[in-house]
This record gives sequence, C-alpha cells and structure tokens, in this order.
Amino acid sequence: MTADPKSPQRWIRPEIQALSAYHVPDPGDLVKLDAMENPYRWPDELVGQWLEILRSVELNRYPDPGAGALTEKLKQTMQVPDGMQLVLGNGSDELIQMLALAVAQAGRVILAPDPTFVMYRMIADVAGMAYQGVPLAADFSLDVAAMQAAIDQYQPAIVFLSYPNNPTGTIFDAAAVEAVIRHAPGLVVVDEAYAPFTDATFMPRLGEFSNLLVLRTVSKMGLAGLRLGLLVGSPQWLTQIDKTRLPYNINVLTQASALFALQNKAILDEQAQRIRADRSRLAGSLEALDGIEVYPSEANFILFKVLQGASDRVFAELKEQGVLIKNLNPAGGRLQDCLRVTVGRPDENRAFLAALQKALG
Ligand code: PMP
Repeated sequence: MTADPKSPQRWIRPEIQALSAYHVPDPGDLVKLDAMENPYRWPDELVGQWLEILRSVELNRYPDPGAGALTEKLKQTMQVPDGMQLVLGNGSDELIQMLALAVAQAGRVILAPDPTFVMYRMIADVAGMAYQGVPLAADFSLDVAAMQAAIDQYQPAIVFLSYPNNPTGTIFDAAAVEAVIRHAPGLVVVDEAYAPFTDATFMPRLGEFSNLLVLRTVSKMGLAGLRLGLLVGSPQWLTQIDKTRLPYNINVLTQASALFALQNKAILDEQAQRIRADRSRLAGSLEALDGIEVYPSEANFILFKVLQGASDRVFAELKEQGVLIKNLNPAGGRLQDCLRVTVGRPDENRAFLAALQKALG
C-alpha cells in the first residue's frame, strides 16, 4: 500500500509527530490546586473600576504594538535596572518560544537542570533544537560541577534556570547560578515566574553579566488569565529577540487590564504575602503526616513524595474527594512518587489536607 501523499505523516516534522500535546485537565467543580494560580479575586469595588476602564478600550483598533504605557509600568513595578530593555510576551511561555526561535539551528542545544519546567524541552523540540537535561543533586539543588561539565560538552545556546524551580519549589544557591552564568558560552535565562513568593532575584544583577536575561510573568501574582510575560536584559540581546515577536502580541484587553492591575499592585502584593504565610502552614501540616517527604519551597506550591508506588492512587483518591492537584509520578525519574499542590485559600488547603489524610489511610 502506498502512503497517502497528502497525509500529515508526510509533511509534519517527525519531532512534532513524536510530541504529546501539553495536557491541561478540565477541573470541573474540583478544588483547583494543580496550576499555581493565585486563588484570590479582587474586591467588588476594584472590579467595578476595571470594568469602567474596559468601556473605553477600542476593540476595533489594533493594540499599541510596543505596549508603551504597560512597559513603563512594568519597568517600575518589577524594578528593572536602568538601561535594560523589555520584550513582552503572550505569557512567559511565548517568550521562551521567541528565545528558542531566535537561536534555533540544527544541532544547537537548550540546556536546563532536570527536573524542571517541561516547556523548555517542548519548545526546544518544536523549534527543531536539541535539549539536554542535567540531573539536579539529591536535594534538588543545582549540581554545579555537572552543569559546567554539560556546558563544556554541549555548548548550549541557552541555559534555562527556573528560579525558584518548578516543579521542585527549591531556590538554587545564588553562587551556583552565578557559576553557571559565568561558565555558559551563550545565554542564561533566569526564569523568575515565582518571584512574588521569594526574596531571591537576579533582576538587580542584570548589569553584572553580559549573557544574563531575566524572565518574569504576571501569571502567578494573580493575573494568569491575562497572559503576559516579560523578558528583561541588555538592548544588545533584546533588540535581536524582539525581531521574532509577532506584531500586536499583547492584545488591547491585556494591555488595559494589566496596567490597571499594576496601578493597584498593593492588593496583589498583599495576596502574595498571604500565600507565603499559608505556604509555611501547609508545609508544616504536610510534614506532620506519616509517610510523606516534603521539599522546601520558595514558590506558591509544595512538592511532596508519598510511599513508593502510592502516588497514582493518592492522586485519584484526592480527585474523587473533589481536590485536583498535580501528579508528577508519570514524569518518572526523580519525580517518581511525587505530587505537587498549589497553595490555595485556607479553606481549600484544609479540604486538601483532609482529603489527603483520608487517602493516606
Ligand atoms: N516559567 C515557569 C517556571 C513556570 O512554571 C511557568 C508556568 N507554569 C511559566 C514559566 C509560564 O508562565 P506564563 O506563560 O503563564 O507566563
């Protein structure tokens, strides 16, 4: 039998055919603690003010291509050092994709510790690049010697460091990150998606390293629905990367809404502080349970390990009791038997803990 000459199998690149699509489960009515979202909404008064602003947004016009007003506000609220440039993305995911597109060539490598955010590998695959994961140390800290050896071997175009790291929640030692930045021949992107939940940041140190970029998002601070990320670094790099951006990638509703939200950032900051305090409480409650290993977290989620072979059952029983978290066991390797829970509202955290206690028996 001859293959259909018009088939997708003929034309879609083999590396795309080999990918499994990024799966996002439908949460239905479940308590949603799977996606690192901020669980809090805005006070009614603020919602009213926001809707007033949206009234005057001109949906018939293309957005400001450079998102000028929003960019200025982001510079100020994210304490971007003078002289550094911003590129905005439709979520920081899009910026990871732009970075890959800007450097992609056959045989070129994206390198990151393992385990880490799965999108780095997916985007490398889509961009036709090679991907190299370097195992973290046993305590999920950065193995500097292993990173440096891999950098020597693979000469990566980009090293991604999730800081704090998803899905482990750990923050890498700043000196270890610095050693990687100094050793890398290409770009090092410090991905600070979880910046609202830690004091650690490389943003003020951008000027120290010519190959460092900092990636941020407004998703985890409470604006995940807007899809807005920012890449920060020296104009030499950013003017090049900006060429891969599609015009008008930040829509008018996002520009107007994000600007308004950042003008009222005190509310988001207060929510982040609450989440940080609740993270300590939740970690304490988890540590008190038998048969669980809890990893320290500087993010708005906690990774924990259950007894060998129990995670799929625990995950399913939590779901049956109405609580959705993330089962990392299918990822295998160091994440075997691991589950990840997002810090929710106190009532959601209690529901999760009660369901978990039941599931553990
Ligand atoms: N970086 C890291 C480390 C993440 O965990 C995530 C989201 N899970 C992102 C980037 C992407 O965030 P967004 O596209 O919502 O900005």
